[in-house]
Parts: sequence; C-alpha cells; structure tokens
Amino acid sequence: MPIICHVCNDKKALLKRPKTGHALCKECFYWAFESEIHHTIVTGKLFKEGEIVAIGASGGKDSTVLAHTLKVLNERYNYGLDLRLLSIDEGITGYRDDSLETVKRNQQEYDLPLTVLSYETLYGWTMDAIVKKIGKKNNCTFCGVFRRQALDRGAMMLGVNKIATGHNADDIAETILMNILRGDIARLKRCTAIITGDDPSGIPRVKPFKYTYEKEIVAYAYFKKLDYFSTECIYSPDAYRGHARAYLKDLESIRPSTIIDIIHSGEMLSVCQGVKLPSQLKCARCGYISSNELCKACILLEGLNKGKPKLGIGKTSKVTQQLKLSKSEETSCSRGCNKAGACCSKS
Ligand code: SF4
Ligand code: ZN
Repeated sequence: MPIICHVCNDKKALLKRPKTGHALCKECFYWAFESEIHHTIVTGKLFKEGEIVAIGASGGKDSTVLAHTLKVLNERYNYGLDLRLLSIDEGITGYRDDSLETVKRNQQEYDLPLTVLSYETLYGWTMDAIVKKIGKKNNCTFCGVFRRQALDRGAMMLGVNKIATGHNADDIAETILMNILRGDIARLKRCTAIITGDDPSGIPRVKPFKYTYEKEIVAYAYFKKLDYFSTECIYSPDAYRGHARAYLKDLESIRPSTIIDIIHSGEMLSVCQGVKLPSQLKCARCGYISSNELCKACILLEGLNKGKPKLGIGKTSKVTQQLKLSKSEETSCSRGCNKAGACCSKS
C-alpha cells in the first residue's frame, strides 16, 4: 500500500525528509524546503528591499539550488532584490571550464546577469599553473584564499550590497567541527554566523542554506530536474575536511539531528573574555581586509612570483615580519590599482 503524504494526507509520498523523517509528496516537500529557507532569510534579516545581491555561482548543486530558490522566493514574497550571478574561474581544466558551462545555461534559464572573474586576470596565475609549480599538497590553501578575495573583488566591481553563498548545514557543521579540533576560536565564531564580513569595509556574506541539509538540496535538485555539475575537483578535496565529513556522516547515521545539533552548539559557544581575536586591518599592499599587515593572498602571490611557494603556508604574522615593505608597496596595490579592491574583485 502506498504511503500517503504526512502533510497533505492526499498524494502519494515520494521521499522521507532527512531533516524530519516525515514522508512527503513532491509538492509538499518543495513547499517545506522553500518555506524553511524563507524563514531563515526573514528571521536572520539577510536582505533588505532594493539590495543588489551577488549569488556565488559555481555550477554545483548548492549554488544552482540557491540561485533557483532565491529567484522563486524573491518573486513569491516580493523581497525586491536585484539578483546577479558571480562566478570565479580558478583555471582548472576539465573541471571549472565544464562547470562554468552549467552556470551559463543556468544564467539563460533563470535570466540573471552573470559575471565571471578568473584567477588568471586577477592574480596572473591559474590553478593549473599553481599546481604545476607547487604540486598537489597545499593547492587548496591557495585556491581558498584566492577565491575568497576574488568573490569580494567581483562584488565590489559589481557594486553589490551582499554576497549570498550556498554553504549548507553540512558544510557549516563540518567547519565548526574542524575549528573546534584546531582550537581556532576566531574562525569558529565566523563560521557559525549567518552574516559575516558586515563591518563597514567589507561586503556582507549571507548563508540562506545555513539550516538546509545537503541531502535535501540534492533531493530538491533531483526532483526539480535542475541542471547542475557534480564532478569533484581534479585537484582533490581537502583531506582534513574529508575526515570531518566522514565522521559527521557516521554520527548522523546513528543520530539524524547531529548536523543541526552541532550548528546549535557552535552558536552557543561563546568566546571567553580575554581571548584575543584578530582585529580587521587593511592589507598594506592590496587594501583588502586582512588580520595582518599583509593579506594572505598577497603573501601567497609573492611566494609564487618569487619562486618560494611555501612562503604563505603557515602563520601569516611571521611571514609578514620577514617581508620588508618598501614605501611604494605600502601605498599601492601590487597589481597597480590604488587600494581597496579597485582592481580587486566562498570559503
Ligand atoms: Fe580549489 Fe581545492 Fe576546491 Fe579544487 S578542491 S576547487 S583546488 S579548493
Ligand atoms: Zn593584500
């Protein structure tokens, strides 16, 4: 006998919601999924009417579902947002070039303006060239630091008010776990926040999927037949994150609420008085936000350009002291622009 939908009590249930365990029909699942994201947006005060919002679009499932859902909710609830797609091309042949084709198809389908910025244009290096130079050991450090800054640079160029990223509940729980294991209090605070970078000098980043399970994003994309790219990066994922992910999956199989429980724990952990948190400065070279005199991207870039690729791997503050800044470097960006991300456009 078919199982009947827990919500409408009418249609045949097609899936068991990972988050609640309820058996739902397709329509009731869509409604529950979209309504919960709307609730997150409203209660977290993620957007204001009239804002321009750049959606970090990689062509993967999270950002594809994010673009689709934000477009649906923006129309359904009259948020009054001007939505744009912003993609970063890391220069990974056989991976990013293919996924960008997916973004371009989505751009047509959702009728949203798309901007693509490449590492090659911004930094003079593709990830292919970086991996050739440094091997596959620390490549994700370079890629993550450059992507984070590239998204900000792109957002500044486009004059947007917010950047929306597709970080889902599983990603956030993994990051909380990793930061606890590393004892990184500053990052722990940042990774649990639904809005980050909302100081006057930065463009706030928002996470509408903070409480959305990855399994539900996959189910939504599958039932809605959304066009997304699902191949893993050829330069292999972060091994440490892979262990945290596997551990979380094990816990989740015993206790389905593990992911939300970890997010709630992360939110409740408060930083003791007396713990020194890094202050936000501006990089003396490129003007982008940094917790040291030089930002991580500038140090990594200097290492690459000087043939010392290990320069930025490790503590930034120590490397900054080693680097003697000339007067001219202190006042202008190494790429020739005059500070604060003029030439400078998730993780
Ligand atoms: Fe970049 Fe590493 Fe992610 Fe590949 S796996 S896209 S190299 S951060
Ligand atoms: Zn810098």
